[in-house]
Amino acid sequence: MEHAEYMREALRLAAEAADAGEVPVGCVIVRDGAIIGRGRNRREARQRTDAHAELEAIAQANAALGTWRLDGCDLYVTLEPCPMCAGAILNGRLRSVRYGARDRVMGACGGVMNLFMENFPNKTALQGGIMEEECGAALSAFFDALRGAAQGDTVTDEGAAPEK
Ligand SMILES: [Zn+2]
Repeated sequence: MEHAEYMREALRLAAEAADAGEVPVGCVIVRDGAIIGRGRNRREARQRTDAHAELEAIAQANAALGTWRLDGCDLYVTLEPCPMCAGAILNGRLRSVRYGARDRVMGACGGVMNLFMENFPNKTALQGGIMEEECGAALSAFFDALRGAAQGDTVTDEGAAPEK
């Protein structure tokens, strides 16, 4: 069960994000059986629109390999990638993307639309639903806690909405 093994590491990074008050999303990039990139959501801490887990993991993988070309690399992320991250994945020519929870608000791998079905030259394999229950539970727990903290006030999900 190597997929689960890598997704567990992505989940560990997502938990780290939650502990820091960030929407829990974690990501790892694997090449030849080794994790060469790790990332987690840091949007609040950095106040950067592009501080997504996938982009941090991609930057680390680029540095590790010394190239922007990530063909032969497999990406694991706890939440379905958004259009920005899916675009980076296509530009990096990654071999595959595997994600956990669906994102019906910002997902670009089928949740809202599917960029990987479009006619781009690079073909990246796509598989969703890897440890979906655990990945969704991490998000649900985070938003439930937020709602609790707001004591019934309306809380916006800001992009991540795990399926109920
Ligand atoms: Zn993203």
